[in-house]
Amino acid sequence: MKDTALHLRHLVKPGQKLHLKDVDPGDTAPYKHKDEVQELLADDKRDLVELQELLYAEGKHSVLVVLQAMDTAGKDATIQHVLSGVNPQGCPVTSFKVPTAEEIAHDYLWRVHQAVPGKRMLGVFNRSHYEDVLVVRVHNLVPKDVWSQRYAQINAFEKHLTENGVTILKFFLHISKDEQKKRLQARLDDPQKHWKFAVGDLKERALWDQYMEAYEDALNHTSTPWAPWYLIPANRKWYRNLTVARVIVETLRGFKMKWPEPADDLSGVVIED
Ligand code: ADP
Repeated sequence: MKDTALHLRHLVKPGQKLHLKDVDPGDTAPYKHKDEVQELLADDKRDLVELQELLYAEGKHSVLVVLQAMDTAGKDATIQHVLSGVNPQGCPVTSFKVPTAEEIAHDYLWRVHQAVPGKRMLGVFNRSHYEDVLVVRVHNLVPKDVWSQRYAQINAFEKHLTENGVTILKFFLHISKDEQKKRLQARLDDPQKHWKFAVGDLKERALWDQYMEAYEDALNHTSTPWAPWYLIPANRKWYRNLTVARVIVETLRGFKMKWPEPADDLSGVVIED
């Protein structure tokens, strides 16, 4: 049965003080098994394909989907599953890596602003400006008095974007440390997955608690009415995919978009043999 409130279930309410340790990454309520959601997910993906086409055709809105997560939580897989079938011309995906020399010479939002999707686009950020209050904080890449000012800067930046027609949806794909161990082990055990295994990921894993603290602060400081966070329990991949798809679908549906009128009067147009 379709849970019509699923898209709101994992919203981080602005002003709420959230404790990550109280959130179960294995939560799949109200579903127990993958088989229960296959059809629902297929429906959502079909709706997403149609709504994205409408978004593209109407050309009035732009949507920015931000994905953040610890390694192996499935940022790439979520993009692959949820957006499969969507017209790639309308869905630019930008991955943010360690900043280049040119990027580091600018303020941290410079590279991000350039990648913000324009009208008619559904753009995805695989990692984002949030790295500048996550990895940067955990590794002391800048002093605390620098990163701690960034929450307010990010809120102001995102407000500016929304006031200029960008709808922002932010997802933290939340897995447990145990689940990450299983997934890393699976990568080690399967030669076809070795390419995904970076020994450096183990160093980040060792900093798990510091990352959780940084995520918790980021969620609490930057889930705003104009750019909310969704805290997605991601131990079960099927539940992760379903909830992310549903939030995007419901957001697009909320635009109440219309197919544009044709540029020309088509009445009486006859196509000759
Ligand atoms: P991914 O893990 O996203 O698939 P990579 O393995 O190339 O891709 O990792 C990208 C790396 O870039 C991550 O370790 C991430 O923390 C790092 N990174 C991203 N943005 C920044 C930033 N602003 N400052 C420092 N490191 C960053």
